[in-house]
Amino acid sequence: MHQPRVSTPFPGPKAREILALDRKFMSQSMTRLYPIVAEQGCGCWISDVDGNLFLDFTAGIAVNATGCLHPQITEAIEKQAHRLLHFSLADFYHPLGAQLAQRLAGLFPGGGDARVFLCNSGAEAVEAAIKLARWHTKRTHLVAFHGAFHGRTTGALALSDSKPIHKEGFGPLLAGVTHVPYSLSGLQFLDQTLFKAVVAGIFVEPIQGEHGVIVPENGFLGALRRLCDRHGILLVADEVQTGMGRTGKMFACEHWGIVPDIICVAKGVASGLPLGAIIAKAGVMDWPASKHTSTFGGNPLSCAAALATIDVLQGGFIENAAAMGKLLLRRLRDIAARKPLIREVRGRGLLIGIELARNGKPAIAEREALLETALRHGLLLLGGGESVVRMCPALVVTAEEIDIALEVFENALDEVLNERRAA
Ligand code: PLP
Repeated sequence: MHQPRVSTPFPGPKAREILALDRKFMSQSMTRLYPIVAEQGCGCWISDVDGNLFLDFTAGIAVNATGCLHPQITEAIEKQAHRLLHFSLADFYHPLGAQLAQRLAGLFPGGGDARVFLCNSGAEAVEAAIKLARWHTKRTHLVAFHGAFHGRTTGALALSDSKPIHKEGFGPLLAGVTHVPYSLSGLQFLDQTLFKAVVAGIFVEPIQGEHGVIVPENGFLGALRRLCDRHGILLVADEVQTGMGRTGKMFACEHWGIVPDIICVAKGVASGLPLGAIIAKAGVMDWPASKHTSTFGGNPLSCAAALATIDVLQGGFIENAAAMGKLLLRRLRDIAARKPLIREVRGRGLLIGIELARNGKPAIAEREALLETALRHGLLLLGGGESVVRMCPALVVTAEEIDIALEVFENALDEVLNERRAA
């Protein structure tokens, strides 16, 4: 069993060289949570260019579903790399494209007939869903929720409402988008006020990831499904972060027994190779030839990785996500009972948020300090919302790795509190 190992000073000399190069030549528009310069991965572990070893509870922002370098994934990619790298599904065919479409369609909840469009990312999947919803319904308006994150392309950005900085200076964005609260009262407001006959689709994250792992109140998704049915609106589940088994079921909407009309998928679907998809009820995906395509979408390499990813996930790791998620949630709640800085621990499966608050207010500075301190002790964590720590390890995570992560997490929390007291 590995142990995290981080030398001082951090970042080390090789990392500092790369950071300087990045500062000089790279667009500085990325968020860049902390200065880790990754070199190699194995399972839930990442080593950096200076030989430091980190336990990764971010999974590359919920992407490395099967962990780093799972042998079945690597083998599938290697094999395909020697056969064919690219042949565009926009105009032609290759076997893996059709086979992956069949496989993803088979995952659609409820067991009805489904069709699949393949693209390259989460935002592209959301764009495809926007276009399909408008095309199919012949309506223009879209609804999304306060706090939502659907991506950075201008259409997906118009649906997002997570942080003002994402949108400032980029307008005008897609017109005809209304945001309502992510709650039953938001749905009531929607039902009573908006002219529903113009609404093509309502976009929802079954659990809001980026905004701080917000699990909706019970009854919310069922009520949303009924509202859509009453008014002929398509329900689009953005499962880019929650999908592919992360929450302990293939799709998070299955926890509430609802069947969306369109599901957006990306992140974990190909274990790190770029791939996005929408899976829609067959009767909804009725657009004709040339309506929407992508040069790279569903490239053979990503398809090979995705087919292997589904095999690996269905081989037991979705159950592992459910079991390890329960363990992680319970252990974090034990820690929360000892640490008043933790206001709430929430989530499903391996998508967990730990909300920090001090004197009833979001503990923003403490969250930043906690991420940084955990990093220095060898644990990679993500932020979410204003003051939430997000844990989303690979679905292959073990109970021993959870032990290690929680020991580092609790010590880092104590260190942050002690420093704050001393300051
Ligand atoms: N939708 C959700 C729910 C996401 O969490 C994200 C990314 O974090 C996206 C869409 C955008 O995905 P991508 O960054 O692949 O465009």
